[in-house]
Amino acid sequence: MDEQQLSKNIAKLRERVRRVAEKSQIGNSTVRIVAVSKTRSAQEIRAAHACGLTDFGESYLQEALQKISELSDLPLVWHFIGPIQSNKTSGIATHFDWVHSVDRARVARRLSEQRPPQLPPLQVCLQVNISGEASKSGVSLEELPQLARTVCELPHLKLRGLMAIPAAEADTSQQQEAFRQMRGALAGIQALGPEIDTLSMGMSADMEIAIMEGATTVRVGTGIFGPRNR
Ligand SMILES: *Cc1c(COP(=O)(O)O)cnc(C)c1O
Repeated sequence: MDEQQLSKNIAKLRERVRRVAEKSQIGNSTVRIVAVSKTRSAQEIRAAHACGLTDFGESYLQEALQKISELSDLPLVWHFIGPIQSNKTSGIATHFDWVHSVDRARVARRLSEQRPPQLPPLQVCLQVNISGEASKSGVSLEELPQLARTVCELPHLKLRGLMAIPAAEADTSQQQEAFRQMRGALAGIQALGPEIDTLSMGMSADMEIAIMEGATTVRVGTGIFGPRNR
């Protein structure tokens, strides 16, 4: 995509986010935009940063590490948002600022052990399987409180909130209900710490509903960079 189009997409996205955040009764006046840059080149990320974006989300570790290294001259904030295999935790712990997809204690423990102690704690969101889909990763609502307590005790992690990818429903009221449940789940764990303030939910297609229901972070790929080829 050429830089002019990219810059237009980003301006349009910012305006969409601003307008909905203003309209939402929940009261998040600022919503963080994580630009999902999986499958995009380092050059595209550089161009997006030139348009003012600072937060980038990646799902595939090998691909991400290559880009993080190529872009180390820029002050970017890197978010890991993909499924986590236990044998990949070291690269995530070493090279990312945020992880949105922690869904089990074993992965959390490894991330904490492998976080270089000279770095600030890794900022963690727990992924919740809010629609109960067998094919999706994420902790169940029932097991969430226990996992949250475990993460809070790990020295090199900081629990910041929750992430979800609700099932794509035809019916917006069902989507709304899923996002609303996430807000309830966040409220349920907030007593564990004052820094638990993040609801990472909403992508290009369902961003408006997510923000209306209290998203503090949206993860947007195609809405910024255009359709993905893979
Ligand atoms: C790919 C991806 C997104 C972005 O999806 P778009 O529809 O391109 O906005 C957001 N979150 C996660 C976890 C993803 O894997």
